Amino acid sequence: MEFVLLKELTLAQQHCKIRTRISRMWESTTPLLKNNILSLDCLLIDEEGYTMQATVRKFDADHFRTLLSEGDVYIFENFNVVPSRNTYKVVDRKYMVQISKWTHGVKYTCKGKIVGIDTTYGWWYKACYDCKGAVKDYDDNFWCARCGKNNQAPIPWYKLNSIVEDETGSTEFTIFGKVAQDLIHVPAQQLAIASNSDRFVLPPVVKNIIGQTYIFQILPDKRRASTNLKSFRVAKIFPTDLKIKGKNKEFENNLQEIEEEIVENTRAVQEIDDIVEEISPTQLLQST
Ligand SMILES: [Zn+2]
Repeated sequence: MEFVLLKELTLAQQHCKIRTRISRMWESTTPLLKNNILSLDCLLIDEEGYTMQATVRKFDADHFRTLLSEGDVYIFENFNVVPSRNTYKVVDRKYMVQISKWTHGVKYTCKGKIVGIDTTYGWWYKACYDCKGAVKDYDDNFWCARCGKNNQAPIPWYKLNSIVEDETGSTEFTIFGKVAQDLIHVPAQQLAIASNSDRFVLPPVVKNIIGQTYIFQILPDKRRASTNLKSFRVAKIFPTDLKIKGKNKEFENNLQEIEEEIVENTRAVQEIDDIVEEISPTQLLQST
């Protein structure tokens, strides 16, 4: 499994990825130093409804305050697992997650509108019958980078290079195969073999999704990581009226019950930049 569940986190398990929603976010202060926060804290909730506190030390707080928002789902990696503090604790767990400037976080869901589909490279490609990777013609056979030589005829497979826009900007989301088919309700094979079908011209039924708003579950497209263009692969698409409700009696006394929509706001997909600035000795002294 790619993601570790919050309940599985231990002090020994320092290098893993978690996928979690930020249910609540608040600043911890003391009555004596009201303007001087101790930390920025979050309540994380994972797919099992298990909750855990996350904390951002005060010298990283400004950075993360602008990048993290309540209700959104993030993938975090390079965080620390640390023992829970005795004070300012909202859930009774042995450990908590410490998010630092070395932590990478990627927003995992995004509500946006498909404003266009770039067909420069076509709206479908010849996919390996077995793995759906791209194939090249190879004598009378086909060559798949993953499976090697393959004599099964390749099949037309959707690859929609979609431009998705929200209030803050636009990004390229690639929608492949079955995910695209669920949206269009017609398999690419069927459209590709139709008479007059052109790989570089969108059929009307595909054009229909332009202008529609969806909630996209996204993953960074690693194959494009070398370019500057931010690109994401769409893992799932939900209608915008989807609501996911989660309740956990454990901390009802501490916080109001959790009952949130999967994504309420529509901020742009953001990668949390890895800030490389050094902590000054003064900041270190202040933090202790
Ligand atoms: Zn293959």
